[in-house]
Amino acid sequence: MGHACYRIFLKTVPYIMNKPEVIGKEGLNRLIQILTGMGYQVIGPTVRDEAIVYDSVHSIEDLPAGWTDEQEGGTYRLKKRSDEALFGYTLGPHSWKQFLHPPERRLWQAQKDSLGFDIVPEKLNNIKYAFLGVRSCELHAIAIQDKVFIQSPHTDLHYQSLRQNALFVAVNCGQAGNTCFCVSMQTGPKVEMGYDLVLTEILDDECHTFLISAGSDAGKTILKAVEAKPAGENEVKRAEEIIANTANQMGRTMATENIKELLYENVEHPAWEKIAGRCLSCANCTMVCPTCFCSTVEDVTDITGDHAERWQKWDSCFTMDFSSIHGGAVRNSTQSRYRQWMTHKLASWQDQFDTSGCVGCGRCITWCPVGIDLTREVAVIRESQPDQAGKLSGSGGQNENS
Ligand code: SF4
Ligand code: SF4
Repeated sequence: MGHACYRIFLKTVPYIMNKPEVIGKEGLNRLIQILTGMGYQVIGPTVRDEAIVYDSVHSIEDLPAGWTDEQEGGTYRLKKRSDEALFGYTLGPHSWKQFLHPPERRLWQAQKDSLGFDIVPEKLNNIKYAFLGVRSCELHAIAIQDKVFIQSPHTDLHYQSLRQNALFVAVNCGQAGNTCFCVSMQTGPKVEMGYDLVLTEILDDECHTFLISAGSDAGKTILKAVEAKPAGENEVKRAEEIIANTANQMGRTMATENIKELLYENVEHPAWEKIAGRCLSCANCTMVCPTCFCSTVEDVTDITGDHAERWQKWDSCFTMDFSSIHGGAVRNSTQSRYRQWMTHKLASWQDQFDTSGCVGCGRCITWCPVGIDLTREVAVIRESQPDQAGKLSGSGGQNENS
């Protein structure tokens, strides 16, 4: 059906390599089969436990056809759409970091022998992941984690190995969620960097097609094998309209001008105490955040004492142990922990990594059990500044247009 839809445009635009092309649902299925045949483990959106989560995908049958999500602070619900869109949701609780920087990973093992302990480092993981359905904000998040794990004096070889082997099939967002603010963070919704292939899902009348273009040599090679058809002007225009419409739907905004200075100058602001009255210090926000990277190590041994292992595990600045040093924890109040998290994300991250630590995905708002919203908290501090009198609108928080 999809091919019949774009056939009418074939003669309007001459076929030129690297110009956008079009595939139907069967073409998308072919893409998954090609990637699988190339040895990639294809990971994409699936429905599980009443959420859209990233898992192995073997055909388009595994994708969340006809599902969307409704999100607000502390709320996430799956809902049926009136169409059969395959990427008609925004973002679920998972991010791609669970594959590139897994929640738990063994670093080495020690086995006792006659001479002492033999240390066996963990082999690098050579899995080739093809990530399907990656959104623009998520590509920005991965670029941020690249800075942390690869472009730093201490390269994480495990992350680097998985990252170098990974292939990214991105998707331009066809709708924004109530907690999205990628436009404020300049990270979306249009995919512009870090992808091998990018899709835009077009559902109009009888048509269900995907505009597809390559962003790398690997993507070009795969696109040739997919046997896509040249896109027509109308399809290119429709895709741009979809992305522009998404940009106008952002549920949240955040004013980022001088945000670093704003937060540095307000470390004693009364807002932190108020947030602490609600914050449960549960660490959900850091677990779902696609850029949070903190981890701890744990050593375990078997009952004989002959075998020991060291494991790396995700950690969070919201736990008491996280800031424990000789003599006790440095941040022993919820107030200090929330302030540390938000100030690091939005301010000191800039000093450390030359970028914001937030890409505006909104997950920390949706998955905070009490609905704490960093866009609102920034706005509260901004609006309390003497120089903000008279220009309070647009400082951030929930978008009145949403
Ligand atoms: S801080 Fe919140 S909105 Fe920003 S990237 Fe992390 S989870 Fe997304
Ligand atoms: S801000 Fe929300 S998600 Fe984060 S630690 Fe506090 S209660 Fe948990």
